[in-house]
Amino acid sequence: MNQAGKQVYDVLVVGSGATGGWAAKRLSEAGVKVALVEAGRQQSDKNFTEHEPAFKLKYRDMAPEVIRRTRPVQKDCYACMEYNYDWFCNDLDEPYTTDKNMPFSWQGRMRITGGRTNVWGRQSYRMSDLDFKAASHDGYGMDWPLSYKDVAPYYDIVEEYVGITGIPEGVYELPDGKFQPPMGLTCAETLLRSRVKEKLGRTVTLGRSANNTQPTNGRPPCHYCGPCERGCITHSYFNSYFTTVADALKSGNCTHIPNAMVYKVLMDPERNRARGLLYIDRNTRQPKEVYGRVLVLCAQSLESVRILFNSADRQYPTGLANSSGVLGHYLMDHITGGGASGELPQLGGKPSINGPNRPDGIYVIRFRNTEKGPRYKKFLRGYGFQGGGGVSFNWGAPGFGPAFKKAIQDPVVTVSLGAFGECLARWDNYVEINPKVVDAFGIPVLNFHMKYGENELAMVPDMAESAAEMLEAAGAKNIQTQANPSAPGWAIHEVGIARMGDDPKGSVLNQFQQSHDVKNLFVMDGAGFTSTACQNPTLTMMALCVRSCDHLMQEMKRGNI
Ligand SMILES: Cc1cc2nc3c(=O)[nH]c(=O)nc-3n(C[C@H](O)[C@H](O)[C@H](O)COP(=O)(O)OP(=O)(O)OC[C@H]3O[C@@H](n4cnc5c(N)ncnc54)[C@H](O)[C@@H]3O)c2cc1C
Ligand code: SF4
Repeated sequence: MNQAGKQVYDVLVVGSGATGGWAAKRLSEAGVKVALVEAGRQQSDKNFTEHEPAFKLKYRDMAPEVIRRTRPVQKDCYACMEYNYDWFCNDLDEPYTTDKNMPFSWQGRMRITGGRTNVWGRQSYRMSDLDFKAASHDGYGMDWPLSYKDVAPYYDIVEEYVGITGIPEGVYELPDGKFQPPMGLTCAETLLRSRVKEKLGRTVTLGRSANNTQPTNGRPPCHYCGPCERGCITHSYFNSYFTTVADALKSGNCTHIPNAMVYKVLMDPERNRARGLLYIDRNTRQPKEVYGRVLVLCAQSLESVRILFNSADRQYPTGLANSSGVLGHYLMDHITGGGASGELPQLGGKPSINGPNRPDGIYVIRFRNTEKGPRYKKFLRGYGFQGGGGVSFNWGAPGFGPAFKKAIQDPVVTVSLGAFGECLARWDNYVEINPKVVDAFGIPVLNFHMKYGENELAMVPDMAESAAEMLEAAGAKNIQTQANPSAPGWAIHEVGIARMGDDPKGSVLNQFQQSHDVKNLFVMDGAGFTSTACQNPTLTMMALCVRSCDHLMQEMKRGNI
């Protein structure tokens, strides 16, 4: 209780997604009293529709324009569909702005317990010291204030709990993890894997995906129905709603406060300590307060930084915890848009409409600017490919009627690869508050100022060429290349805007994602990333979050927080 007789939690965690779920679990299971403050409404298994056919829906999932009426940005996300669009924010209620000629597609703004993990693609990759120490390797940017050996034990903890299918490969650039048995590769993928290794020395592996292939903490293995982004009644993929958050609630030490849109951090300026949160109740639109001894922001990088900007006060006029002036800068998102697809007519098979539908694909491990390899002249850093191959119906068959029905059954074996490339951390890419625009709750919104630089753009044609080279190595025909750089935001991997570093003058957070300025304030989502690597970021976010929670608890015990 505080002086006014109001409850004071040990820790307030903002956001119940990938990171907030882990923070709530790790802390509450250790006996810490946590309030989990979440902007979205409660998720429920009743909302899961992965087995529901489209004909049961009002618009058969065929009317994107209806969804665009309220979610013009969110509908750009492939996972936002008639089945689940009300899990995503209403873009009219929650807008943002961009500078002229700088489009940014802010997708995946979930407003439901579990955040983005309800719909994510589940690809889960470790980073290596080639990533954590990238600046030492090639001279660009800043090293992370930690190294692989610091994070490795936490990768182990997270992987063992989450359940990740994968194949160990022994490649330095993509460290192996604690994998569950691999989902199988198709014939097309097996051919690509062996030919690419033989002829080009590159590693094509199974996508490392957070889908269980063996029973995991009471969750049965995946039964290959396919559309995980619509939920999973057997809880066979990783969604923090039915895993970490459920565990936190089970501990008896976690109070979930849904529909609470956090506006700002409340400060005690005399002691330079955060003391609570001001939030707007989404249902009543009334302001409310909640109090805690420690604050952990896990609202997704951009939303957490928005909260810090909106918490500016006399002591921190440019944003809370921003004595460095770095807050909001170094925004990164992977560049996409380069790749290739082709056919493997030497293979056949019987296509099936009913599956099984493996909820995973393949991954090509980064092969440019590797640890021991030569420096690539065209750009710094590298990219990895995601893709897949298999047999499908010949949808493009000519004719109609019985002839078409017959022709469509001729199997077509295709294989495709699309890359995710590292985005360099640049001061010029930033977010700030647009004081002229507020959302439906009266909270000032973010303005984006971001575009890809020469290094990212140089990767895209190279992605197309190298993908075609690999498909050729596998004997593919009709190879089509793509080299159309995506606008920032499309990879949905936004990180870096409250970066970690040893020097408080050039960074916002220390290696434990603790504010240099305000000791009882942490930002445990992707905002702390010092660079973005080319791997999907969420596994690293979760591992860092667990590590930081352990540090936080030690500091609490020592009386330092
Ligand atoms: C379609 C899709 C596919 C993806 N695929 C992959 C993939 O294959 N691999 C990968 O690594 N990553 C993937 N990602 C990204 C991944 O989902 C995110 O990196 C990860 O979920 C981020 O975790 P987080 O805890 O920071 O935020 P989230 O998981 O988004 O959770 C944030 C939570 O905070 C809440 N919140 C936001 N603002 C406030 C506020 N002001 N007050 C209170 N609560 C707030 C939100 O409602 C949300 O529930 C994908 C994302 C999407 C959308
Ligand atoms: S494919 Fe597997 S994990 Fe995905 S919804 Fe179906 S059973 Fe669940």
